[in-house]
Amino acid sequence: MSIDRIGQGYDLHRLGPGGRLILAGIQIPSDKGLIGHSDADVLFHAVIDALLGAAGLPDIGQQFPDTDPAYKGIDSGQLLQRTLALINEQGYTPVNVDATILAERPKLQDYKRKMRENLAKLLHLDVNAVNIKAKTNEGLGEIGSGQAIACQAVAALRKNQ
Ligand code: MG
Repeated sequence: MSIDRIGQGYDLHRLGPGGRLILAGIQIPSDKGLIGHSDADVLFHAVIDALLGAAGLPDIGQQFPDTDPAYKGIDSGQLLQRTLALINEQGYTPVNVDATILAERPKLQDYKRKMRENLAKLLHLDVNAVNIKAKTNEGLGEIGSGQAIACQAVAALRKNQ
C-alpha cells in the first residue's frame, strides 16, 4: 500500500497522586494518574497530532482547546474519532501508526496488546498496522523521576482515489 503523507506528534502530561492513568483508552493500575483538562491520554494526544500533522491540519490545541469546557474530562478516544473524520474530510486514510511511550513506571508490557487493539479499532486499522512501544527514561529527568509520562507518535496516510 502506498503512502502519501507522514506526520509526527508528541505530548507530555504530568503525573500526580490519585486520578486515573489512561493510555490508548485503557485504564492502567497505578498509584499516580495523568493530569490534564481531558482524560490526559498522552498516547492518543500524540497520535492525534501525528494524524493532523500528516494531513496538514492545525494541531490538537487548536482543534480541541483546553480552555473549552466541552472538552473537560472528555474521553480522548472521542477526540481521536473526530480527528479521523477531519483527515477523512481532507481525503486521507491512515495506513499505519507507530508510537513510543516514555514512562518510568508502571511497567506497560502487559497492556501493550490491548492498547494496540483499541487504537486500531478506533482508526479502523488492522492491529498489525498499529504499534506501541514503551520504554523508561533510564531514571533521568522529569520522566525518569516519575513526574510525567510522554509519548511520541508517527502516522502515515494515503490519499483516497
Ligand atoms: Mg495532551
